[in-house]
Amino acid sequence: MAIEIIRPVPKSYQALVRLRHRLPHNHEKLKDIHGKIDRIKAGYCGETRTDRFIEEVEFPQQVKIIPDFHAKLHSKRFVQIDTLIITRSYILILEVKNIVGTIDFKNYQSQIVRTLNDETTPLGYPFIQLDRNIDGISNILRKYGLNPPIHSALVFPSNNVIIENSPKTRNIFFVKQLPLFIQRLNDLPNKLSEESFHDICEIFTNINGDFIEKSLCDRFSIDPKELKKGIICSNCGELLQQRTRRTWICIACGQADVNPIPRNIEDLFILIKPEITMNDCLHYLQVKSRHTLNNNLVKMKLPKKGVRRATVYTIK
Ligand SMILES: [Zn+2]
Repeated sequence: MAIEIIRPVPKSYQALVRLRHRLPHNHEKLKDIHGKIDRIKAGYCGETRTDRFIEEVEFPQQVKIIPDFHAKLHSKRFVQIDTLIITRSYILILEVKNIVGTIDFKNYQSQIVRTLNDETTPLGYPFIQLDRNIDGISNILRKYGLNPPIHSALVFPSNNVIIENSPKTRNIFFVKQLPLFIQRLNDLPNKLSEESFHDICEIFTNINGDFIEKSLCDRFSIDPKELKKGIICSNCGELLQQRTRRTWICIACGQADVNPIPRNIEDLFILIKPEITMNDCLHYLQVKSRHTLNNNLVKMKLPKKGVRRATVYTIK
């Protein structure tokens, strides 16, 4: 069966871009934030490149592929998997590392060291993440009395990587080798009934959610007072000017924006705090009309508590 993988842009990427747009151009944290945005972008490119190779594979009729799987096991433990593949024969957990340069596995120290342009950088040992993910997925399934075989693999999507001293007992592939590996797994006998397969797909679909745990100002120790106020452009972060009731124009980049207020209200949740009030919106977004803001808050159908001026909104 031919498949198509549609990978969502990570929420963390979108959130960091929002933060970058709200920071003044000379802010000391901007370099750090740009670095993080670049790493997430590179990771996403590697994952989508890997997706194109997975799409080459001839899968059985019953397959579920979840790109960028996130689940909360309990208040302190999360599982994040680049690609999760479920069939009736196996579950496959993929960890994609879009790194270039020479990668030396220091297996005894549980570390990898990357050398690029004569510069060496220690990086996290990817099997720690993979083993934690296998354990997390097993824990979830055990609660439902399910115990399918779980396989895992580390994938390097870049053509510009040299791998040295890789552990022989683990599945490590250049992306071009991945389709054959999955094809071999597809030849394994079924271990799950049709019903159990559907149960597993449903369990993982229901718990999958890309959360932003902490407001970004908290995470980067930024005082919310430092953020730019107003209704800003999603393209460049400069102030928008309202032209008609719904249409706004960015003076800096010329982009027209229809109905930008809900997105700007979301900025407050993502960047500042998980609960906001009308006064926060008036203060940070500098919209003069309480009525306009209220209309937008109502249309966003946000969970809320309290009444009238004491209403506190949260994000779903
Ligand atoms: Zn703009």
